[in-house]
Amino acid sequence: MFSKASSAMASIPCSRVRTASCAWMDLRQQLCKKSLFYGLVTYLWRPFKILQAGTRALGVTPFTCSISSTTSSLQIELVPCLKDNYAYLLHDVDTGTVGVVDPSEAMPIIDALNRKNRNLTYILNTHHHYDHTGGNAELKARYGAKVIGSSLDKDRIPGIDIALQDGDKWMFAGHEVVVMDTPGHTKGHISYYLPGCGAIFTGDTLFSLSCGKLFEGTPEQMLASLDKIVSLPDDTNIYCGHEYTLSNSKFALSIEPKNTALQSYAARVAQLRSKGAPTIPTALKLEKACNPFLRTSSTEIRRSLKIPDTASSRSIGSHSPSEG
Ligand SMILES: [Zn+2]
Repeated sequence: MFSKASSAMASIPCSRVRTASCAWMDLRQQLCKKSLFYGLVTYLWRPFKILQAGTRALGVTPFTCSISSTTSSLQIELVPCLKDNYAYLLHDVDTGTVGVVDPSEAMPIIDALNRKNRNLTYILNTHHHYDHTGGNAELKARYGAKVIGSSLDKDRIPGIDIALQDGDKWMFAGHEVVVMDTPGHTKGHISYYLPGCGAIFTGDTLFSLSCGKLFEGTPEQMLASLDKIVSLPDDTNIYCGHEYTLSNSKFALSIEPKNTALQSYAARVAQLRSKGAPTIPTALKLEKACNPFLRTSSTEIRRSLKIPDTASSRSIGSHSPSEG
């Protein structure tokens, strides 16, 4: 159950100086990374899922963060839904326009809107799963909100009005929203990137300290999706679809126990969760330092998985931790 305790506010300046960082690695690195990614996704889901299942019933505190720029400002409010889902309310302060990302269910969203006497104009879905679209129909009927999603999922997203494609730039009350195809979890999964605000909504593609399960896609697709996200500026805030970070931290530490950044983050996560506070948003720089699914070049992770440094994609594809 989620607690309904007081909300916290944090201001994040929007006008950031960013280097045009290029996270795409050369082919050799990619192949090595791909190999290790196979090892991670193919053989470690079972213990990972057990860890996840054991620690999902923790409370979460409502959380709002404000992102301001010189021309407009956007508030992002985290709304806990179902057992461990997060929906996000986007509120443009200047126009009063409100959108919601991945409403699992309608009531928590309606309650959050009622508390501030707001209407709802847009519903943005990252993918078709019910725990991300379950509130679409009721919210659309109540507010007349337009539903936005991937053109690849136009037959699977309830009530979809606006179908977008990879690279599309859609405007939310003056804020540019870049649509990024991020398949792997599902074929039609997209992420919404707001470059002017340094925020991305990754749904079930990238979580803090893990990535989404491969229901429909391949490891290659997920790897490419994660690489797209990794190529964004380090100070990008990541808003994902679930609060899995505590269980993820245990898995991450199990395969990279000497990572001091991870140790520190895991301790902070445990402290936040003990208070029922969310660990989201997380920052891309932090994830690059701690998330094992973004750290397949880590020597310690390779050793934990018993994967040779020179292993090819093919050899890793047949590798098992039980094999020396
Ligand atoms: Zn999903």
